[in-house]
Amino acid sequence: MTEVDQIAIEAVRVYRVSIPLINPYYLSKIYPTTTHSEVVVVELLANGVSGWGEADPGGVMFTGDTCDDVMDHFSDSGVKSLPGTMLGDLISGASLAGLCGATKSAINVAAYDLKGRLTDIPVWKMLGEKHHQSLPSLWPTSSGTSAQDMDVITPKYDLGYRTFMLKMGSNPVDEDIARVHDVYEKLPENARLMVDANQGWSFEEASTFMRHTIDLPLALVEQPIAADDYGRIHELRALSPNPISVDESLKRFADAEQIIKVKGADIFSVKISKNGGLAEGLAITKLAAKHGVKIMMNSMIELGITQAAALHLGCVTPNVVDFGHAFMSVQRTSDDITDFADWKTSGTVALPDKPGLGVEINRDKIDNYCLARLES
Ligand SMILES: [Mg+2]
Repeated sequence: MTEVDQIAIEAVRVYRVSIPLINPYYLSKIYPTTTHSEVVVVELLANGVSGWGEADPGGVMFTGDTCDDVMDHFSDSGVKSLPGTMLGDLISGASLAGLCGATKSAINVAAYDLKGRLTDIPVWKMLGEKHHQSLPSLWPTSSGTSAQDMDVITPKYDLGYRTFMLKMGSNPVDEDIARVHDVYEKLPENARLMVDANQGWSFEEASTFMRHTIDLPLALVEQPIAADDYGRIHELRALSPNPISVDESLKRFADAEQIIKVKGADIFSVKISKNGGLAEGLAITKLAAKHGVKIMMNSMIELGITQAAALHLGCVTPNVVDFGHAFMSVQRTSDDITDFADWKTSGTVALPDKPGLGVEINRDKIDNYCLARLES
């Protein structure tokens, strides 16, 4: 452990923040419509410096956790237990045993950010070798019709986006097959299309979709069936050359091991908050690389702290997909507590050369959107 890793956390502040979306977001029939980005921001303090993390729980059906769960953890003992903990143990995860998902991620990312700001080193340098200076972003559409998809795609293409994700799994599968063909026909030049069923199909419906879209070169088909049914995803992979991605199935490192064992995915959809932070996310990407699985950096409806963390990890990941990643979250919220939106030009988001995560935090905005706060 280096000297800085032995620095003890002096204080912690926790803020529950809710920012409305510009447009409500409808995934598949198993999820309620999302209207706000609801997150829990964690601020770790040491030597007069703050490090920032953000928990982005997606609910019990998605990530297995909620904002209430995260706040309960911090109000029960989480806030009191952090002061005195060594920074290095929060980065390695040694002091985070028993935690997972968004709660673990918020603390782990804040620890990386704090170390970076204390040592004047960007987070990506703590994660590995830089393979990309920037990554392209995708743009998603809600579950709906092809006309609604094109109403979204056309203006976003003009802004520089080249990868579009259609949310499916809400309408009858035959309608979604017709919809994706229709959109593909109208798609502008050089654009890529992916679909995300968000667990909305039965195995039979997913099989029908895979068989009837062989003629389309889809970038990926994400989470076609229930999260815990990845034992059968390899059967879907055999039906079509289109790659299968897992999202809800992949929460922890142990899930990644299990999915690889059953040859369940071509692509892992990695989300910092869902996957427990940067250390566990990095371990998942390295395991994937070893087994020929590609990585898409994906996101919840999150704010700029987690988006920045995802970009740092994506830029050190050699096996990321060569199409768009989910770096549009703060363009879908009506505001953000960071300046992450400034990192993006023409649908591409670039790493800044700044210490830690590199995002500026706007405390006034945290106050403005704060529903509850805790402090050690
Ligand atoms: Mg997904």
